[in-house]
Amino acid sequence: MTAYMDHKDLANETIDANRAQQITDGVHRVLDGIAQAEAEAGREPGSVRLLAATKTRDIGEIMAAIDAGVHMIGENRPQEVIAKAEGLARQCARRGFSLGVAASEGSDPEQHIPFHLIGQLQSNKISKVLPVVDTIESVDSLDLAQKIARRALARGITAGVLLEVNESGEISKSGCEPAQAVELACQIGTIEGLDLQGLMTIGAHVDDETTIRRGFTHLRETRDRILASGEPGTAHCHELSMGMTHDMALAIAEGSTIVRVGTAIFGPRAFI
Ligand SMILES: *Cc1c(COP(=O)(O)O)cnc(C)c1O
Repeated sequence: MTAYMDHKDLANETIDANRAQQITDGVHRVLDGIAQAEAEAGREPGSVRLLAATKTRDIGEIMAAIDAGVHMIGENRPQEVIAKAEGLARQCARRGFSLGVAASEGSDPEQHIPFHLIGQLQSNKISKVLPVVDTIESVDSLDLAQKIARRALARGITAGVLLEVNESGEISKSGCEPAQAVELACQIGTIEGLDLQGLMTIGAHVDDETTIRRGFTHLRETRDRILASGEPGTAHCHELSMGMTHDMALAIAEGSTIVRVGTAIFGPRAFI
């Protein structure tokens, strides 16, 4: 268990009205920012989906975001997925939403809230998250992809995956090397038990917008090459999960289809 989990009850389901209002305002600001960035980039309204990055947030905080219009959530750590999944699914069901892969079958897509894993996944945690999350965004090696596929097949399910690419080259970041991304995606596409849905990256941790943007441009070009390859299993590879609180508008200008936002919705994180 990570230390911060001892300080905060992540399964807490009730928050006060002030906190709920902060989160509501945060969601509205971010949705307005997405709409504005779409318009400035000449993109179709609604072409970018908002994923709330919910690490360190409790169930009450996450439900406030969902009540304010968030329709996709992402967790970094398998432990947090497990601590929150049951309560979140129950609260979502009370509102007529289904959450996560366990509830996705036969559910109305309009009323389904996809649950993504956006942080690193160690192989001994795969079995724990597979029954809960729809999509694993942090697949960055053939080995990990094969391990996820084996466990998905054993459960009789298909796991959604994104290939994470380390576009910034920062050693602190996970993700495959950009030069290997097309080949790796084509290999992952052929694996039974996986549905390759797109690519993910974390923007460079620098102030220079040109540098940040270059990584996003490259991810889009990589996605386009994968789709154009016509290789088996690559036809669904259209998502570009890129853009966070500080680089969301740049990512949208470069074609992002999913922005992962935490701080701008919930405020600064108290832990980690
Ligand atoms: C925390 C996190 C985010 C959101 O970051 P913010 O700067 O708080 O918006 C997005 N993606 C990943 C992988 C994260 O870990």
